[in-house]
Amino acid sequence: MLNTLEGILKQDNFSSSDIVKLLSSDGEARTLLFRKSAEVKEKYIGRKVWFRGLIEFSNVCGKDCLYCGIRKGNRNLVRYNLTDDEVLEAARFAYVNRYGSIALQSGELESPSVTGRIENLLHKIKELSNGELGITLSVGEQTPEVYKRWFDAGAHRYLLRVESTNETLYRKIHPGDIKHSFSRRMACLKYLQDIGYQTGTGVMIGLPFQTLEDLAGDLLFMEEFDIDMCGMGPYIEHADTPLIKHSGSLLPLKERFDLTLKMIAIIRIMMKDINIVAATALQAIDPIGREKAVKIGANIVMPNITPGKYRDSYKLYDNKPCTDDSAEDCQSCLEARISLADAEVIYGEWGDAIHYKKRLEG
Ligand code: SAH
Repeated sequence: MLNTLEGILKQDNFSSSDIVKLLSSDGEARTLLFRKSAEVKEKYIGRKVWFRGLIEFSNVCGKDCLYCGIRKGNRNLVRYNLTDDEVLEAARFAYVNRYGSIALQSGELESPSVTGRIENLLHKIKELSNGELGITLSVGEQTPEVYKRWFDAGAHRYLLRVESTNETLYRKIHPGDIKHSFSRRMACLKYLQDIGYQTGTGVMIGLPFQTLEDLAGDLLFMEEFDIDMCGMGPYIEHADTPLIKHSGSLLPLKERFDLTLKMIAIIRIMMKDINIVAATALQAIDPIGREKAVKIGANIVMPNITPGKYRDSYKLYDNKPCTDDSAEDCQSCLEARISLADAEVIYGEWGDAIHYKKRLEG
């Protein structure tokens, strides 16, 4: 096994079966994988981490994804929508504390008023930060026209996880209606890339029905699509969602966590200069989960800067960490944590994916 794995790690390209072998590695072989991914990160990115201050500005959602705690059908939570002033205040906090960028995230809604509101917020955030704050959007599927308006208003990165690139699996974890179409999600990712966004996607790891071959397919898709940013995290059950009925068939949480670290390590080796986020969901399983991800390949962390009183209501999954903290707590806690992971937080820079710049240069 060790020999096979060493051989695979020397290759320039991985096949699906190579990736499955890497995902199955344990003991020394697993250590080798992590050592290699850490080396790649150090060589191409350095021991650096950039912050994206995360503003979860609304949990109102028009979709009913079967895994998600803020799905429309869940009546067991208080719905909220930050006021524009609260959003701007959070953005100002990020700016004053020299976070290079923020990320605006919410449930998925499509309407002229949502489009206009976000466009207006983008203008105002650019204004209050002298154009210095980088802005990532993560507000789901929209028309190409809407994506373009937001791009023109100053958003330059967009995160849209495909959740799974196996259409059969995708259909099992979403309702079978037009609102949850696999092909539209894929099309949206393409619109974003064509408009010029730094484009990010990712999947959940350890979903019911998911196989290692599915995960290998996910990584190969990301490589082929030529993404700039990757956000992947473990699937974590939420008691008030339909998918809870499959809990019995899931991998133990620790194994989902381990598989996520391996996915991060492998994508880092495959796509050396992209931005990879250390997902918050990792920390729901392991108190130093994000730091572990930073050590083996991730270079982006998203401190939560949503006003404290709303945090409990943005529960995508059970046991979501840091919902009791304030933005100030998150910063000092994270800074200490990142240095424990032997990395350094870079302030006052956007921290764009090197991959994106190279992609543009062709
Ligand atoms: N709806 C927006 C973003 C909000 S949800 C969009 O799709 O653009 C952000 C991410 O949380 C989702 O993409 C999904 O991958 C993740 N998520 C949702 N439910 C989850 C769960 N139960 N466990 C782990 N991650 C989950």
